[in-house]
Amino acid sequence: DVCVLGSFMKDLVASAERRPLPGETLHGTGFAEFLGGKGVNQAIAAARMGARTAIVGTIGADRYGEEFLELLASNGVDTSWVVRHPSLGTGVGLPLVLPDGGNSIIIVSRANAAITTLDVEAAADVLTASKVLSVQLELPVEASHAALRLASTAGGTTILTPAPVGPVDPALAGLAGYVDILVPNEVEAAALTGLNCDDESQVPMIARKLAEDWDLRGCVVTLGARGAYVLDRAGSFEERIAPYAVDTVDTVGAGDAFCGSLAASLADGADLVDAVRLANAAGALSTTVNGAADSAPVRAAAIALLES
Ligand code: ADP
Repeated sequence: DVCVLGSFMKDLVASAERRPLPGETLHGTGFAEFLGGKGVNQAIAAARMGARTAIVGTIGADRYGEEFLELLASNGVDTSWVVRHPSLGTGVGLPLVLPDGGNSIIIVSRANAAITTLDVEAAADVLTASKVLSVQLELPVEASHAALRLASTAGGTTILTPAPVGPVDPALAGLAGYVDILVPNEVEAAALTGLNCDDESQVPMIARKLAEDWDLRGCVVTLGARGAYVLDRAGSFEERIAPYAVDTVDTVGAGDAFCGSLAASLADGADLVDAVRLANAAGALSTTVNGAADSAPVRAAAIALLES
């Protein structure tokens, strides 16, 4: 009932005391490999939150690609729509994690960048049959556009995580009519509006501006350790959702756990605010575990936190 169009990224994570300066070589304090990519993370999160989930995307015919198919299958995600590119490698991500749990990330798209609108159209059956489609911006924007158009025209609910995003991205304009719910984090919300999210009092105005600019049904701004803000235009409802106090070790993938959970709840018929409350718990729990795809919680754990 949830379909995710998105990226597959093998993450090679370094930990360090601080970010290196320009030209500096800095000794790290740790290293780990994880399977991630916003698409994979969201698909696994949605599946763990109880949704029947399929993923559409492109991997290489390499060892990393095999690792993804195994991980997705073991989480019950349908991989039959995944295309294996014969010559490009699977995408890689290079996150740097700091002692306070903050991160900086470089991604190299590789096979992800090769997905075409024809690949997306070949997956029309699953895109149009799903109740909820979740898309991010790690794939070429034409592919995201094609998927959003197919799902939206078929009457599905569409979610866009506008990440990664630059300050001016005119190609995004074409997506607007096909997105129901936009889920930016603070950095993305600021980039899309030119306004500053650091001042908490600005967030409602930013959400309203995005909702108008994008003609949204709802806008959810994720605020990291400050929780989330939800604007539900259909219900004329706005609410600041308070964060959970958890023992955060690694924030990589928090936004994806949040979005995957949101997609699963919406596919299950929840209204937007209730879906955000549970997603806020799922996002918080994901920060208590290292890694990206594998850090998403199961539904029972998120509900236990919600009801605690
Ligand atoms: P992203 O990973 O895209 O930058 P955020 O950092 O905003 O996204 O995190 C997404 C969601 O995860 C937040 O809205 C919140 O619900 C939860 N979350 C993230 N960091 C924390 C934290 N330190 N404590 C509690 N919840 C968190």
